[in-house]
Amino acid sequence: MSTPDPVNRTPVEINLHRSAGILEVKWDDGHVSSFPLSALRESCTCALCQETRRTKPSTPHALPVLGSMERNYPDSIYPIGRYAMGIRWKDAHESIFPYDHLVEICPCDECKTRRAAEAN
Ligand SMILES: [Zn+2]
Ligand SMILES: [Zn+2]
Repeated sequence: MSTPDPVNRTPVEINLHRSAGILEVKWDDGHVSSFPLSALRESCTCALCQETRRTKPSTPHALPVLGSMERNYPDSIYPIGRYAMGIRWKDAHESIFPYDHLVEICPCDECKTRRAAEAN
């Protein structure tokens, strides 16, 4: 296990790009992840959201719903201990994103390539 482990990344900087709807996380190894806010909300790991997704599977071709941007907008972003980031959304829902989960869902090409390589 001598290769660098991306799972042990911690954020050094978090930037919210309001107009683009992007949350940008800069990690301590210099990697930068840009998460669409809607994707973050979709990947909320709380029991309530998991149950909602289980009972109402999202259709892949669903059209964007008007007003969803507001719901998917963070009211506040705060660290939880040393392992996770919390987001309180505009609709008062709170999500906890462990850093290893964020690394796992990083949508950049580099991470996609790495995950594809690991899957083989
Ligand atoms: Zn949730
Ligand atoms: Zn990445």
